[in-house]
Amino acid sequence: MGGQDGYKDEKPAAAVQEGHEAFSLAQQNSYLQKNMAKVLSCEAAAASELPAAAVGETLERLRALEKRWKISLSETCFYPIGGGQPSDCGWLGNVSCIFAEECGGKIVHWCSEALDVGAEVEVKLDWDRRWYHMQCHTGQHVLSAVAFDLWNAPTNSWDLAADMCHVDLGMAQPPKAEALSELEARINDCLRESRHVRTLAVKGDNADGELSRLAAHPQARGSAPAIGAFPIVRFVEIDGLDFNPCGGTHVRSSAELQTLKVLAVSKDRGNVRLSFLCGSKLFSRMTEMLSVEASLVKQLSCRPNEMPGLVEKRLKVEGQGQAEEKPGV
Ligand SMILES: [Zn+2]
Repeated sequence: MGGQDGYKDEKPAAAVQEGHEAFSLAQQNSYLQKNMAKVLSCEAAAASELPAAAVGETLERLRALEKRWKISLSETCFYPIGGGQPSDCGWLGNVSCIFAEECGGKIVHWCSEALDVGAEVEVKLDWDRRWYHMQCHTGQHVLSAVAFDLWNAPTNSWDLAADMCHVDLGMAQPPKAEALSELEARINDCLRESRHVRTLAVKGDNADGELSRLAAHPQARGSAPAIGAFPIVRFVEIDGLDFNPCGGTHVRSSAELQTLKVLAVSKDRGNVRLSFLCGSKLFSRMTEMLSVEASLVKQLSCRPNEMPGLVEKRLKVEGQGQAEEKPGV
């Protein structure tokens, strides 16, 4: 399983090395956890100003700040929110950074305190959060590719929440249990095969013909951006499995995902939603689940597989008891 013929590997393509601003350090090296930088600007946000793209816990954390500061740096390892992947958070020196977004080609860091313009600071990621994003984002590529190959189901959207990753597949009915098992088995085969993950960046105007050449890649399942839509187009390739335009952060090898498990299947606005975890987050979720299971096994004095039947029986008895206590209700 070698690299595809003629494709550049690992290092950013020439257009990126020329210093295009839209390509952050995070996109050039997803494993970079910190860097030194100069503070270029620091501006107080208006009292009611909040970033439009911030949601959930991040939005709550930003709201809880008495004052918010928008800081730009000479260089940053932060990934700004985009393409389905949430923003990184971390620290600029001793100042906490809660959110990062791209505005006009620059990355704006939303922080808890001000920094002096011109100061040198250490920019440091919350690595646990980024690592979860890298593993599950790459997991999404693998799951989407295998679901397309097995079921001809395109991925219509995906979302990386704080505790779970969701992929919305364009299919009318949820898969049967055997089909889901086959999907998981194929995915985990791909992980064990240590497939190489690499990024390639080409000129968006197709001046060298690379964009149209890569758009016709045999593993490309979606459409490539229109010629001229972006100055540079970045593709992500998983050896022999997937090839898609994507700006996010990924792991180097599918083996770094360890295992992927679909945890829930549901119908969502005309799609079928598969919720999954992989890697470190799956491991910690399994630890929590086993702890809950051990506690219930002890309290109910039964085996794990007897729990659903036992709980159902007890709830029935409880319901009957309540109905007898409240006659006529
Ligand atoms: Zn991606």
